[in-house]
Amino acid sequence: MNAIIFGAPGSGKGTYASRLQSRLGVDVIAMGDIFREILKEDTPLGRKVKGYVEKGLLVSDDIVINVLKERLKKISNGKGFILDGYPRTIKQAKALEEIAKIDVILLQMVPDWIIIERLSSRRICRNCGAVYNIRYLKPKVDGVCDKCGGPLYQRSDDNPEVIKKRIQVYQEQTSPILQHYKKNVPFIVSSITDLETKPETVIEEIMKELKKLKLA
Ligand code: ADP
Ligand code: ZN
Repeated sequence: MNAIIFGAPGSGKGTYASRLQSRLGVDVIAMGDIFREILKEDTPLGRKVKGYVEKGLLVSDDIVINVLKERLKKISNGKGFILDGYPRTIKQAKALEEIAKIDVILLQMVPDWIIIERLSSRRICRNCGAVYNIRYLKPKVDGVCDKCGGPLYQRSDDNPEVIKKRIQVYQEQTSPILQHYKKNVPFIVSSITDLETKPETVIEEIMKELKKLKLA
């Protein structure tokens, strides 16, 4: 199964993708995680990427498309992949068509107020990338990852000003891509209307729909 998980920043893409990864054995390609690794490097590419990410802007298409191609070469098994954070522009969507066939779009619909609420209290494990929320999805011990014991940190782009920019970029540049897929690819749409919905509830729903489509 090759899927794209689609939704605004903070809509839960990373959380769901990693859970689906353990359920289905697929690879997850998380563009944001890849760029956070690249921007740590003191190289021309690292500095360039850092400039975009820290302002909440999109990394340029040429860089993104190359990074995706490289990553797809390293796919570990034949069970397929979930793309998280790609494509974010029409140009990226078109480039993907040349490389792989997409079987399903997992669309996350989440109102803006929930996104802002979640992102501003989000924490990430520095070691394994697991995602927590100090208000809604707490680790068992403050500041410590349940899975690996690593330290939790706050992403530098999870601050109110940059969050606003990221939501705007999503609405202007990324959300219109959905039109591109509507005709040809089945959608599984998950909508959340309150902050208490547990990830497992959403995952069960997605699994049920994937089975209907014979993709799980
Ligand atoms: P979010 O939680 O905002 O969805 P991600 O972790 O997926 O964030 O991505 C963080 C940042 O990395 C984005 O704001 C953007 O600067 C950059 N980025 C990630 N994926 C892409 C992409 N496909 N095209 C351009 N920039 C990207
Ligand atoms: Zn961890």
